[in-house]
Amino acid sequence: MRRFLIAGNWKMNCGPSDAAGLLEGLKEQKSEVSEDVDVLVCPPYVSLSMSVNYLHDTDIQVGAQNLHFEDNGAFTGEVSASMLTEAGCAYVIIGHSERRQYFGETDESVNKKTHKAIDHNLGPVVCVGESLEQRKEGIHFDLVKDQVTAAFDGINEVDALDVVIAYEPIWAIGTGETASPEQAQEMHAHIRSVLSDLYDEDTSEGVRILYGGSMKPGNAEELLGQKDVDGGLIGGASLDAESFAQIITIAEKLS
Ligand code: PEP
Repeated sequence: MRRFLIAGNWKMNCGPSDAAGLLEGLKEQKSEVSEDVDVLVCPPYVSLSMSVNYLHDTDIQVGAQNLHFEDNGAFTGEVSASMLTEAGCAYVIIGHSERRQYFGETDESVNKKTHKAIDHNLGPVVCVGESLEQRKEGIHFDLVKDQVTAAFDGINEVDALDVVIAYEPIWAIGTGETASPEQAQEMHAHIRSVLSDLYDEDTSEGVRILYGGSMKPGNAEELLGQKDVDGGLIGGASLDAESFAQIITIAEKLS
């Protein structure tokens, strides 16, 4: 059975002092996490090192929200994979829809970043998902297939198992609107069949696929209870220690 991964995407929230407060609350709410569930928080760059230090005596891991695909050089404002591993990151979010929408992230850059993360033993959390217009047009399955296919281009079946996919329908991110459990399961099963075509059945079964889009304690059980949903990428609710801890507890119960 795949292990659940419960990941918090803090977006552009929580500099070091707010991060300390949130992590303190999380440690109070969830002093121990079952070994069947992986928990991850993804603070902004400036709060990564302090979060790693703060969480060193817990099982909660830390990830970044982006990386650059070059190793170093004249790329003002960017951060490389080796810098993230040096800061203690275990994962990195790649291709979040907000980065695709506002910062020119493309399927090609997502693929380059995924390769770079793998080269540096950072677990890539690759985000895919359609807009409401694309869903209404009925092209959401093809679009997600193209995004997954592009992200995994050139990645062998061994490394593919280290990639986490986050299916995040754009219309459900930060809107309070959630995909129904059936809609989530349908897309997750589709992604698994795309992976099966790209690799084989075992690989497709081994890759973790998270759901993201207004997941909260009130809907987490139904969503995480779906056969092909292996965890959640959680924005808003991860900024509240109690809510995030409740979602972790739900994942523990379902494990
Ligand atoms: C996200 O930012 O990845 C996300 C899913 O946000 P929210 O949970 O707030 O919809």
